[in-house]
Amino acid sequence: MHSRQSVGILGATGMVGQRFIQLLEDHPWFEITWLAASDRSSGKTYGEAVRWKLDTPLPARIASMPVSPATPENAPKILFAALDTDIARDLEPNFAAAGCAVISNSSAFRMQADVPLVIPEVNPEHLTLASRQSWGANGNLGGYIVTNPNCSAIGLVVALKPLADRFGLKAVFVSTMQAVSGAGYPGVPSLDILGNVVPFIRNEEEKLVEETGKLLGTLQDGRIAPYPLRMTAHCNRVAVEDGHTESVSVQLAAKVTREEILAAWREFQPLAADSLPTAPAQPVEFDPAEDRPQPRLDRMRGRGMTVTAGRLRPCTLLDWKFTILSHNTIRGAAGAALLNAELLASQNRLLPSGAAE
Ligand code: NAP
Repeated sequence: MHSRQSVGILGATGMVGQRFIQLLEDHPWFEITWLAASDRSSGKTYGEAVRWKLDTPLPARIASMPVSPATPENAPKILFAALDTDIARDLEPNFAAAGCAVISNSSAFRMQADVPLVIPEVNPEHLTLASRQSWGANGNLGGYIVTNPNCSAIGLVVALKPLADRFGLKAVFVSTMQAVSGAGYPGVPSLDILGNVVPFIRNEEEKLVEETGKLLGTLQDGRIAPYPLRMTAHCNRVAVEDGHTESVSVQLAAKVTREEILAAWREFQPLAADSLPTAPAQPVEFDPAEDRPQPRLDRMRGRGMTVTAGRLRPCTLLDWKFTILSHNTIRGAAGAALLNAELLASQNRLLPSGAAE
Protein backbone atom coordinates (compact mmCIF):
# COMPACT_ATOMS: atom_id res chain seq x y z
CA MET A 1 0.00 0.00 0.00
CA HIS A 2 1.20 3.52 -0.78
CA SER A 3 0.15 6.63 1.17
CA ARG A 4 -0.29 9.74 -1.00
CA GLN A 5 2.92 11.75 -1.14
CA SER A 6 3.03 15.54 -1.51
CA VAL A 7 4.28 16.68 -4.88
CA GLY A 8 4.85 20.05 -6.49
CA ILE A 9 4.89 21.21 -10.11
CA LEU A 10 7.49 23.62 -11.46
CA GLY A 11 6.20 25.35 -14.60
CA ALA A 12 2.66 24.43 -13.58
CA THR A 13 0.95 26.92 -15.92
CA GLY A 14 2.47 25.66 -19.21
CA MET A 15 1.26 22.98 -21.63
CA VAL A 16 3.09 20.19 -19.83
CA GLY A 17 2.34 21.65 -16.38
CA GLN A 18 -1.38 21.52 -17.20
CA ARG A 19 -1.06 17.86 -18.23
CA PHE A 20 0.60 17.14 -14.88
CA ILE A 21 -2.39 18.66 -13.12
CA GLN A 22 -4.79 16.63 -15.23
CA LEU A 23 -2.90 13.35 -14.75
CA LEU A 24 -2.31 13.87 -11.03
CA GLU A 25 -5.95 14.62 -10.28
CA ASP A 26 -7.12 11.54 -8.31
CA HIS A 27 -3.68 9.89 -8.57
CA PRO A 28 -3.54 7.06 -6.02
CA TRP A 29 0.04 7.73 -4.86
CA PHE A 30 0.64 11.50 -5.28
CA GLU A 31 -1.17 14.67 -4.23
CA ILE A 32 -0.39 18.15 -5.59
CA THR A 33 0.36 20.52 -2.69
CA TRP A 34 2.50 23.18 -4.37
CA LEU A 35 2.54 24.96 -7.73
CA ALA A 36 5.18 27.31 -9.12
CA ALA A 37 5.73 29.29 -12.30
CA SER A 38 7.39 32.56 -13.36
CA ASP A 39 7.16 35.98 -11.71
CA ARG A 40 4.29 36.69 -14.12
CA SER A 41 2.20 34.08 -12.30
CA SER A 42 3.47 33.91 -8.72
CA GLY A 43 1.26 35.62 -6.16
CA LYS A 44 -1.88 34.86 -8.21
CA THR A 45 -4.16 31.91 -7.71
CA TYR A 46 -3.59 29.15 -10.26
CA GLY A 47 -7.00 29.88 -11.79
CA GLU A 48 -5.99 33.51 -12.37
CA ALA A 49 -2.55 32.69 -13.72
CA VAL A 50 -3.29 29.85 -16.13
CA ARG A 51 -4.81 29.79 -19.62
CA TRP A 52 -6.31 26.32 -19.17
CA LYS A 53 -6.12 24.54 -22.54
CA LEU A 54 -7.18 20.99 -21.76
CA ASP A 55 -10.55 19.40 -22.53
CA THR A 56 -11.26 18.42 -18.93
CA PRO A 57 -12.25 21.11 -16.39
CA LEU A 58 -9.59 22.73 -14.25
CA PRO A 59 -10.09 21.12 -10.81
CA ALA A 60 -11.58 23.66 -8.36
CA ARG A 61 -9.09 22.77 -5.61
CA ILE A 62 -6.17 23.48 -7.97
CA ALA A 63 -7.74 26.70 -9.33
CA SER A 64 -7.79 28.17 -5.83
CA MET A 65 -4.21 27.21 -4.93
CA PRO A 66 -1.60 29.99 -4.87
CA VAL A 67 1.20 30.00 -7.45
CA SER A 68 4.50 30.17 -5.57
CA PRO A 69 7.81 31.61 -6.74
CA ALA A 70 10.07 28.93 -8.25
CA THR A 71 12.39 28.67 -5.25
CA PRO A 72 12.92 25.65 -2.97
CA GLU A 73 11.65 27.31 0.24
CA ASN A 74 8.36 25.62 1.21
CA ALA A 75 8.49 23.29 -1.82
CA PRO A 76 7.74 19.59 -1.22
CA LYS A 77 10.56 17.08 -1.67
CA ILE A 78 9.13 15.61 -4.86
CA LEU A 79 8.81 17.91 -7.86
CA PHE A 80 7.61 17.43 -11.39
CA ALA A 81 9.37 20.00 -13.56
CA ALA A 82 8.02 21.41 -16.84
CA LEU A 83 10.23 24.47 -17.29
CA ASP A 84 11.65 25.92 -20.50
CA THR A 85 15.12 24.52 -21.03
CA ASP A 86 17.10 27.68 -20.25
CA ILE A 87 15.10 28.26 -17.08
CA ALA A 88 15.43 24.60 -16.08
CA ARG A 89 19.22 24.81 -16.44
CA ASP A 90 19.23 27.62 -13.84
CA LEU A 91 16.50 26.45 -11.49
CA GLU A 92 16.47 22.65 -11.33
CA PRO A 93 19.91 22.43 -9.63
CA ASN A 94 18.65 24.77 -6.87
CA PHE A 95 15.94 22.25 -6.01
CA ALA A 96 18.26 19.25 -6.24
CA ALA A 97 20.77 21.07 -4.02
CA ALA A 98 17.98 21.69 -1.49
CA GLY A 99 17.40 17.93 -1.29
CA CYS A 100 14.48 17.57 -3.70
CA ALA A 101 13.78 14.86 -6.26
CA VAL A 102 13.36 16.71 -9.57
CA ILE A 103 11.50 14.62 -12.15
CA SER A 104 12.17 16.74 -15.20
CA ASN A 105 10.83 17.11 -18.71
CA SER A 106 13.35 19.58 -19.96
CA SER A 107 16.37 18.81 -22.12
CA ALA A 108 18.75 20.84 -19.89
CA PHE A 109 20.37 17.84 -18.15
CA ARG A 110 19.23 14.86 -20.24
CA MET A 111 22.65 14.20 -21.72
CA GLN A 112 24.67 14.90 -18.55
CA ALA A 113 26.62 11.71 -17.75
CA ASP A 114 25.26 11.24 -14.20
CA VAL A 115 21.64 12.19 -15.01
CA PRO A 116 19.34 9.28 -15.87
CA LEU A 117 17.38 9.70 -19.09
CA VAL A 118 14.72 7.05 -18.64
CA ILE A 119 11.68 5.40 -20.16
CA PRO A 120 10.54 2.80 -17.60
CA GLU A 121 9.77 0.16 -20.24
CA VAL A 122 13.15 0.69 -21.93
CA ASN A 123 16.02 1.39 -19.52
CA PRO A 124 14.90 1.38 -15.85
CA GLU A 125 18.37 0.20 -14.77
CA HIS A 126 19.76 3.65 -15.75
CA LEU A 127 17.96 5.17 -12.72
CA THR A 128 20.85 4.06 -10.51
CA LEU A 129 22.93 6.88 -12.05
CA ALA A 130 21.00 9.32 -9.85
CA SER A 131 22.86 8.11 -6.77
CA ARG A 132 26.11 9.45 -8.30
CA GLN A 133 24.82 13.03 -8.43
CA SER A 134 25.98 15.74 -6.08
CA TRP A 135 24.37 19.18 -6.23
CA GLY A 136 25.26 22.32 -4.31
CA ALA A 137 28.30 23.52 -2.43
CA ASN A 138 27.06 22.47 1.01
CA GLY A 139 27.35 18.75 0.51
CA ASN A 140 24.86 16.28 -0.81
CA LEU A 141 21.38 16.41 0.72
CA GLY A 142 20.25 13.50 -1.42
CA GLY A 143 18.48 15.59 -4.05
CA TYR A 144 18.66 14.42 -7.64
CA ILE A 145 17.43 15.03 -11.18
CA VAL A 146 15.85 12.32 -13.34
CA THR A 147 14.75 13.15 -16.88
CA ASN A 148 12.45 11.78 -19.54
CA PRO A 149 13.25 12.11 -23.23
CA ASN A 150 12.21 14.50 -25.93
CA CYS A 151 8.61 13.94 -27.05
CA SER A 152 9.62 12.41 -30.42
CA ALA A 153 12.34 10.23 -28.93
CA ILE A 154 9.91 8.56 -26.50
CA GLY A 155 7.51 7.22 -29.12
CA LEU A 156 10.34 6.15 -31.37
CA VAL A 157 12.38 4.39 -28.69
CA VAL A 158 9.40 2.56 -27.17
CA ALA A 159 8.78 1.09 -30.65
CA LEU A 160 12.49 0.38 -31.32
CA LYS A 161 13.35 -1.25 -27.99
CA PRO A 162 11.64 -4.63 -28.66
CA LEU A 163 13.31 -4.74 -32.09
CA ALA A 164 16.73 -3.88 -30.62
CA ASP A 165 16.37 -6.57 -27.94
CA ARG A 166 15.21 -9.35 -30.27
CA PHE A 167 16.97 -8.65 -33.54
CA GLY A 168 19.58 -5.93 -32.99
CA LEU A 169 19.33 -2.53 -34.68
CA LYS A 170 21.89 -1.33 -37.21
CA ALA A 171 20.34 1.79 -38.76
CA VAL A 172 17.30 4.02 -38.31
CA PHE A 173 15.86 6.66 -40.64
CA VAL A 174 13.05 8.73 -39.10
CA SER A 175 10.97 11.62 -40.36
CA THR A 176 8.63 13.28 -37.84
CA MET A 177 5.36 15.21 -38.17
CA GLN A 178 5.12 16.96 -34.80
CA ALA A 179 2.07 18.61 -33.26
CA VAL A 180 1.99 22.31 -32.39
CA SER A 181 1.44 21.64 -28.66
CA GLY A 182 5.01 20.33 -28.62
CA ALA A 183 6.18 23.95 -28.86
CA GLY A 184 4.42 24.97 -25.61
CA TYR A 185 1.91 27.82 -25.37
CA PRO A 186 1.37 30.01 -27.39
CA GLY A 187 4.02 28.21 -29.45
CA VAL A 188 4.13 28.50 -33.24
CA PRO A 189 2.21 31.55 -34.55
CA SER A 190 -1.02 30.46 -36.28
CA LEU A 191 -0.05 32.33 -39.48
CA ASP A 192 3.12 30.21 -39.68
CA ILE A 193 1.44 26.84 -39.23
CA LEU A 194 -2.15 26.95 -40.57
CA GLY A 195 -2.26 25.22 -43.96
CA ASN A 196 1.48 24.69 -43.69
CA VAL A 197 4.39 22.44 -42.71
CA VAL A 198 7.51 23.91 -41.11
CA PRO A 199 10.52 21.68 -41.87
CA PHE A 200 12.61 22.90 -38.95
CA ILE A 201 12.46 22.54 -35.15
CA ARG A 202 15.56 23.93 -33.50
CA ASN A 203 17.87 21.25 -32.01
CA GLU A 204 15.16 18.59 -32.41
CA GLU A 205 16.96 16.33 -34.90
CA GLU A 206 20.11 16.38 -32.77
CA LYS A 207 18.14 15.55 -29.60
CA LEU A 208 16.27 12.72 -31.29
CA VAL A 209 19.49 11.04 -32.41
CA GLU A 210 21.59 11.49 -29.26
CA GLU A 211 18.77 10.62 -26.85
CA THR A 212 17.97 7.42 -28.78
CA GLY A 213 21.60 6.33 -28.37
CA LYS A 214 21.57 7.03 -24.62
CA LEU A 215 18.16 5.40 -24.00
CA LEU A 216 19.10 2.18 -25.79
CA GLY A 217 22.62 2.32 -24.35
CA THR A 218 24.22 0.03 -21.80
CA LEU A 219 25.09 0.94 -18.21
CA GLN A 220 28.76 0.02 -17.73
CA ASP A 221 30.89 1.05 -14.72
CA GLY A 222 28.52 3.89 -13.82
CA ARG A 223 28.40 5.31 -17.36
CA ILE A 224 26.10 4.85 -20.33
CA ALA A 225 27.72 3.44 -23.45
CA PRO A 226 25.46 4.64 -26.30
CA TYR A 227 23.84 2.01 -28.49
CA PRO A 228 25.95 1.59 -31.65
CA LEU A 229 23.48 2.78 -34.26
CA ARG A 230 23.58 4.67 -37.55
CA MET A 231 20.69 7.10 -37.44
CA THR A 232 19.35 10.16 -39.23
CA ALA A 233 16.29 12.29 -38.43
CA HIS A 234 14.11 14.85 -40.21
CA CYS A 235 11.82 16.86 -37.92
CA ASN A 236 8.78 18.79 -39.16
CA ARG A 237 6.09 20.84 -37.40
CA VAL A 238 2.58 20.21 -38.76
CA ALA A 239 -0.84 21.72 -38.13
CA VAL A 240 -1.95 19.04 -35.66
CA GLU A 241 -2.95 19.95 -32.11
CA ASP A 242 -1.64 16.90 -30.19
CA GLY A 243 0.16 13.73 -31.28
CA HIS A 244 3.50 13.23 -32.99
CA THR A 245 3.57 10.95 -36.06
CA GLU A 246 6.87 9.42 -37.22
CA SER A 247 7.72 7.55 -40.43
CA VAL A 248 10.48 5.09 -39.59
CA SER A 249 12.76 2.78 -41.61
CA VAL A 250 15.02 0.32 -39.80
CA GLN A 251 17.90 -1.96 -40.70
CA LEU A 252 18.09 -4.94 -38.34
CA ALA A 253 21.04 -7.16 -37.46
CA ALA A 254 19.05 -10.29 -38.36
CA LYS A 255 16.72 -11.23 -41.24
CA VAL A 256 13.23 -11.27 -39.73
CA THR A 257 9.66 -11.70 -40.91
CA ARG A 258 6.77 -9.29 -40.50
CA GLU A 259 5.17 -11.73 -38.04
CA GLU A 260 8.33 -11.73 -35.91
CA ILE A 261 8.28 -7.92 -35.69
CA LEU A 262 4.58 -7.92 -34.78
CA ALA A 263 5.25 -10.55 -32.09
CA ALA A 264 8.13 -8.47 -30.68
CA TRP A 265 5.80 -5.47 -30.28
CA ARG A 266 2.85 -7.54 -28.99
CA GLU A 267 4.92 -9.39 -26.38
CA PHE A 268 6.75 -6.25 -25.18
CA GLN A 269 5.25 -5.82 -21.70
CA PRO A 270 8.21 -5.19 -19.40
CA LEU A 271 6.15 -3.47 -16.67
CA ALA A 272 3.35 -6.04 -16.55
CA ALA A 273 4.28 -7.17 -13.02
CA ASP A 274 4.84 -3.69 -11.55
CA SER A 275 1.25 -2.36 -11.28
CA LEU A 276 2.26 1.25 -11.94
CA PRO A 277 -0.91 3.40 -12.20
CA THR A 278 0.16 5.25 -15.36
CA ALA A 279 1.69 2.29 -17.23
CA PRO A 280 -0.33 1.25 -20.29
CA ALA A 281 -1.29 -2.42 -20.56
CA GLN A 282 0.25 -2.44 -24.02
CA PRO A 283 3.22 -0.06 -24.61
CA VAL A 284 3.18 -0.66 -28.40
CA GLU A 285 -0.11 -1.48 -30.09
CA PHE A 286 -0.15 -2.41 -33.78
CA ASP A 287 -3.11 -1.29 -35.90
CA PRO A 288 -3.46 -3.35 -39.08
CA ALA A 289 -5.64 -0.79 -40.92
CA GLU A 290 -3.98 0.57 -44.07
CA ASP A 291 -4.40 4.21 -43.01
CA ARG A 292 -3.54 4.14 -39.30
CA PRO A 293 -2.18 5.44 -36.98
CA GLN A 294 -3.67 8.93 -37.14
CA PRO A 295 -3.30 11.62 -34.42
CA ARG A 296 -7.00 12.36 -33.95
CA LEU A 297 -7.99 8.69 -33.80
CA ASP A 298 -5.11 7.04 -31.98
CA ARG A 299 -3.35 9.47 -29.65
CA MET A 300 -5.48 8.58 -26.59
CA ARG A 301 -4.89 4.82 -26.74
CA GLY A 302 -3.82 3.54 -23.34
CA ARG A 303 -4.96 6.89 -21.81
CA GLY A 304 -2.37 8.62 -24.00
CA MET A 305 0.48 6.29 -22.94
CA THR A 306 0.37 3.68 -25.72
CA VAL A 307 2.48 4.12 -28.85
CA THR A 308 0.47 3.06 -31.90
CA ALA A 309 2.36 1.41 -34.75
CA GLY A 310 1.02 0.73 -38.22
CA ARG A 311 1.84 0.35 -41.91
CA LEU A 312 4.57 -2.25 -41.34
CA ARG A 313 5.99 -3.17 -44.75
CA PRO A 314 9.32 -3.97 -46.41
CA CYS A 315 11.65 -1.03 -47.09
CA THR A 316 13.65 -1.02 -50.31
CA LEU A 317 16.39 1.12 -48.73
CA LEU A 318 16.68 -0.49 -45.28
CA ASP A 319 14.83 -3.67 -44.12
CA TRP A 320 11.41 -2.63 -42.76
CA LYS A 321 9.39 0.57 -42.53
CA PHE A 322 6.42 1.59 -40.41
CA THR A 323 4.56 4.57 -38.91
CA ILE A 324 4.24 5.35 -35.22
CA LEU A 325 2.15 7.81 -33.27
CA SER A 326 2.39 8.95 -29.64
CA HIS A 327 0.73 11.65 -27.56
CA ASN A 328 3.40 14.31 -27.13
CA THR A 329 2.23 15.93 -23.89
CA ILE A 330 1.16 12.64 -22.22
CA ARG A 331 3.47 9.77 -23.33
CA GLY A 332 5.96 12.36 -24.57
CA ALA A 333 6.03 14.57 -21.45
CA ALA A 334 3.88 14.61 -18.29
CA GLY A 335 2.85 10.95 -18.43
CA ALA A 336 6.45 9.94 -19.05
CA ALA A 337 7.67 11.84 -15.98
CA LEU A 338 4.83 10.47 -13.89
CA LEU A 339 5.73 6.93 -14.91
CA ASN A 340 9.37 7.58 -13.94
CA ALA A 341 8.20 8.78 -10.51
CA GLU A 342 5.91 5.78 -10.11
CA LEU A 343 8.75 3.40 -10.93
CA LEU A 344 11.02 5.12 -8.39
CA ALA A 345 8.24 5.08 -5.79
CA SER A 346 7.57 1.37 -6.38
CA GLN A 347 11.25 0.76 -5.59
CA ASN A 348 11.13 3.06 -2.50
CA ARG A 349 13.68 5.33 -4.18
CA LEU A 350 11.58 8.38 -5.04
CA LEU A 351 11.90 10.34 -1.80
CA PRO A 352 15.49 11.68 -1.53
CA SER A 353 17.54 9.88 1.12
CA GLY A 354 17.82 13.00 3.32
CA ALA A 355 14.07 13.74 3.26
CA ALA A 356 11.65 12.84 6.05
CA GLU A 357 8.48 10.94 5.09
P1 NAP B 1 5.32 26.25 -21.85
O1 NAP B 1 3.91 25.97 -22.22
O2 NAP B 1 6.01 27.38 -22.52
O3 NAP B 1 5.40 26.46 -20.25
C1 NAP B 1 6.56 26.91 -19.61
C2 NAP B 1 6.35 26.98 -18.10
O4 NAP B 1 7.56 27.49 -17.50
C3 NAP B 1 5.21 27.92 -17.66
O5 NAP B 1 4.60 27.39 -16.51
C4 NAP B 1 5.98 29.20 -17.29
O6 NAP B 1 5.29 29.99 -16.33
C5 NAP B 1 7.22 28.61 -16.66
N1 NAP B 1 8.30 29.59 -16.63
C6 NAP B 1 8.77 30.38 -17.64
N2 NAP B 1 9.75 31.19 -17.19
C7 NAP B 1 9.93 30.87 -15.88
C8 NAP B 1 10.80 31.37 -14.87
N3 NAP B 1 11.71 32.33 -15.12
N4 NAP B 1 10.71 30.83 -13.63
C9 NAP B 1 9.80 29.86 -13.36
N5 NAP B 1 8.95 29.36 -14.27
C10 NAP B 1 9.02 29.86 -15.52
O7 NAP B 1 6.25 24.98 -22.13
P2 NAP B 1 5.86 23.41 -22.19
O8 NAP B 1 5.46 23.02 -23.56
O9 NAP B 1 4.94 23.11 -21.07
O10 NAP B 1 7.27 22.72 -21.96
C11 NAP B 1 7.91 22.68 -20.69
C12 NAP B 1 9.18 21.86 -20.81
O11 NAP B 1 8.83 20.52 -21.19
C13 NAP B 1 10.14 22.39 -21.88
O12 NAP B 1 11.47 22.21 -21.43
C14 NAP B 1 9.84 21.51 -23.07
O13 NAP B 1 10.93 21.38 -23.94
C15 NAP B 1 9.53 20.17 -22.38
N6 NAP B 1 8.71 19.26 -23.17
C16 NAP B 1 7.56 19.71 -23.77
C17 NAP B 1 6.79 18.79 -24.50
C18 NAP B 1 5.53 19.20 -25.20
O14 NAP B 1 4.98 18.36 -25.95
N7 NAP B 1 5.00 20.41 -25.01
C19 NAP B 1 7.19 17.48 -24.60
C20 NAP B 1 8.35 17.05 -23.95
C21 NAP B 1 9.08 17.96 -23.24
P3 NAP B 1 4.44 31.32 -16.72
O15 NAP B 1 3.08 30.83 -17.20
O16 NAP B 1 4.35 32.05 -15.44
O17 NAP B 1 5.19 32.04 -17.79
